[in-house]
Amino acid sequence: MTEYSEEFKAHFRPAYGRYGHDRPDFARCADSVYSGDAWSGAKQCSRKNGHGPDGAFCKQHDPVALAAKQVARFAAWKRESDQKAREIVFTSESKAAIRAIAEGHNDPMTLAREILARYEGKA
Ligand SMILES: [Zn+2]
Repeated sequence: MTEYSEEFKAHFRPAYGRYGHDRPDFARCADSVYSGDAWSGAKQCSRKNGHGPDGAFCKQHDPVALAAKQVARFAAWKRESDQKAREIVFTSESKAAIRAIAEGHNDPMTLAREILARYEGKA
């Protein structure tokens, strides 16, 4: 029989399932999952472990990989959000510039260059 370290066992709940009667299976993933039926409670994940801290998790529930995924998702969201903000400022500045040119702005080329430089992040 395999001996499991205390560090390894610490990743597991003392028990799983609706009534907390299910002892942890240390050969399986330490995370708990909901089957979708409200009566079953949080069961131990049935996948084989071997991933994440002390190898206590399955590939899908590896907390390190999950955190990395979250960081990547946030970075993507931030990039998209910053781009949208730049577009809004650009649109607003462009409208104001067109208005200024229509009203006789005497240096439309410089005005356009300044707006483009701000939009492209060069100013
Ligand atoms: Zn799992």
